[in-house]
Amino acid sequence: MRITKKIFVDLAIFMIGFGLVIGIVFPYFMLMMGIPKAYLLTFPFALSCIVAGVIVGLVNIILAKTVVGSKIALMADKMSLVADKIDQAKTFDQLQGCNEDECRLEIDSEDELGRGANSFNTLLKALADALSAEGTIRSFTALMSNQIELEALTKGSLTYLLDFLKAEAGAIILERGGEFYVASSFGIKDANTILTNPNLWKFFEKREVLKLSLDKDLEIDGLLLSIVPREVYSFPLLYKEVPLGLLIVGATKEISERQLQTLEMCIQSLSISLNNSITYDQLQKLAANDPLTGLYNRRFGLHRLSEEYSRAVRSQMPLGILMFDIDHFKRVNDTYGHAAGDRVLINVAKIATMAARKGDFVIRYGGEEFIMILPGAGKKDCLFIGERLRHMVEESVVQTAEAQMKVTISVGLVSYPEYAVEDEHALTKAADEALYLAKERGRNMVIYAP
Ligand code: GH3
Ligand code: MG
Ligand code: MG
Repeated sequence: MRITKKIFVDLAIFMIGFGLVIGIVFPYFMLMMGIPKAYLLTFPFALSCIVAGVIVGLVNIILAKTVVGSKIALMADKMSLVADKIDQAKTFDQLQGCNEDECRLEIDSEDELGRGANSFNTLLKALADALSAEGTIRSFTALMSNQIELEALTKGSLTYLLDFLKAEAGAIILERGGEFYVASSFGIKDANTILTNPNLWKFFEKREVLKLSLDKDLEIDGLLLSIVPREVYSFPLLYKEVPLGLLIVGATKEISERQLQTLEMCIQSLSISLNNSITYDQLQKLAANDPLTGLYNRRFGLHRLSEEYSRAVRSQMPLGILMFDIDHFKRVNDTYGHAAGDRVLINVAKIATMAARKGDFVIRYGGEEFIMILPGAGKKDCLFIGERLRHMVEESVVQTAEAQMKVTISVGLVSYPEYAVEDEHALTKAADEALYLAKERGRNMVIYAP
């Protein structure tokens, strides 16, 4: 039953009205109790009763307003505070304080008001959690969309996710050509040992989240991580149901159900980015690599050489070039066939890659002609590496059904700035001339540019 739009005004009308009625009825009630009429039905007594009734009504409404009204006002204030914060909050952090005393209501009664306050706090927590999850996913997705290089993508996402989960260690393992490799790892002493774990394929093929809860005293050898985690998780990285790899997480503290829900959404976005990045990586390789040997192709290799040459000029560091060609390779093709010749080429490329040091790279320069670029290598280093390569090729055998194929190479070398040149073309030309000399002087030898 409502009279005005304000509950406390209605309540005031009812309470004062009721007091008034009681004040009017009171003398008659006293009459019924046997009090003489002469005392009761006088104007001053009737007036006192009415005034007393009205005063009781007034006091009641003041008390109600003080006890209940103040609680409701507090609730209303907190609600508008939260509403303002939601309105203004550009980031979750600005709202996060709401979990604390600022926005929460104190629960100091067990009645409807207490229940109301409790529900308000629960709603507030749910809101903060939802905003937190949204914020995490939003910034994670932004991070993902900024990265296309596989290495940067896996490193950035792993760091972000471990930080979000407050986990100490983890790795992103990807599958390529039927083998696993560690795309990125954090907090693991030797991440490659994970790859030897027999559980890995099982986790990969199951395509579901697996959790191992570990006993604190458990011996951790043979498990996936080298920290002492309480829990180890393996999350599948799936793109359109196709497994790309695994995210392994080891934490010494329990990961909450809510964190896992958010993580699941982040992983979906990670998988899409990973798939894009893997495709990009493959395209990059196609543009840069020779399909038979996997070495840099001529176009890309010479581009890299010009970069290395500029760097050598700028830094005044030596740059070695080693050009080599298989001796009498035509004979290999003629004797064993083109396919066998291809296998010899692949083998020589493999040996050259093995002979190369970190930072060196090998180019398939022509049919059976290769260039190895050796940043930092002076004449002495070039001669050493060239001789080692020549020896390794000479020692190696390619086995076919019918025969054992052996080849040798001739090598021409040059090193900038010991060999002074104007540009990188002059450098390859000098190496080519040295190679020509090696051929002329009988093949299977290493010659420094004359
Ligand atoms: P040398 O260099 O010692 O003077 O003799 P060579 O027999 O190696 O001479 P040349 O450089 O003229 O011959 C290169 C041969 O390599 C000719 C060509 O058929 C072969 N060749 C080039 N590319 C490929 C390839 O991709 N696969 C195979 N199997 N053979 C190739
Ligand atoms: Mg040749
Ligand atoms: Mg040749």
